[in-house]
Amino acid sequence: MTLICIFLGVPGSGKGTQANRISKQFGMAQLSTGDLFREALKNDPNGKLAKIVSAGDLVPDEMVLELVKRTLKSKGDYSKGIIFDGFPRTIKQADALKEIVREMGAKIQVILLELGLEKAIRRISGRRICSQCAMVYHLPNHLPKEEGICDHCGADLISRADDTEEKIKKRHHVYLESTLPLVGYYKNHLVRVDASQVPDDVYRNVEKCMKAMANDQT
Ligand code: AMP
Repeated sequence: MTLICIFLGVPGSGKGTQANRISKQFGMAQLSTGDLFREALKNDPNGKLAKIVSAGDLVPDEMVLELVKRTLKSKGDYSKGIIFDGFPRTIKQADALKEIVREMGAKIQVILLELGLEKAIRRISGRRICSQCAMVYHLPNHLPKEEGICDHCGADLISRADDTEEKIKKRHHVYLESTLPLVGYYKNHLVRVDASQVPDDVYRNVEKCMKAMANDQT
């Protein structure tokens, strides 16, 4: 049975970083709606979508679901499972995902990365992402080998437009209002991980959860 793993947590809790490492280690496909939207924005940097994302608001559910369904249809190998990072973010999205999971005959597991607002702000303020491949770095905790350049593809590192302190607070508020209800929604499929430690320590705990889930599958 295909495993669909959802990383849930406030902006800055490390969903992308942890999901990326897990996807590489377990050979699972990673689907980050935030990365997909940022990629789409490169072709339309001043459009409606760009305004929504840079303001820290949520993209309308219909648009998100259209993107997720299209990506699932076109994107490759799901035999080892799928990791969603940044999706679902509303109950409506979760209901739609339930239907997708049913059609795929898959199983959902949720990892909730728990982190307080103060620490999230500190983390996000230091975040830099690659303008091409979306690899995430952090000043001063995870520096690239050459300043301002991605180790992976050599492109420039940038700050996200929605990573200012004001936007982080807005996104935190949006999370509490629209996404936090998913913790109750998924209560029977959810494990909590303390995301306040350094990424390697968080990873060790996330990895343990993934191994336990994989054993449950067999
Ligand atoms: P992220 O990289 O996950 O922090 O997402 C960046 C931004 O993309 C969010 O602040 C939203 O504007 C948009 N976004 C990403 N995923 C979703 C989603 N599942 N639902 C609505 N908006 C989303």
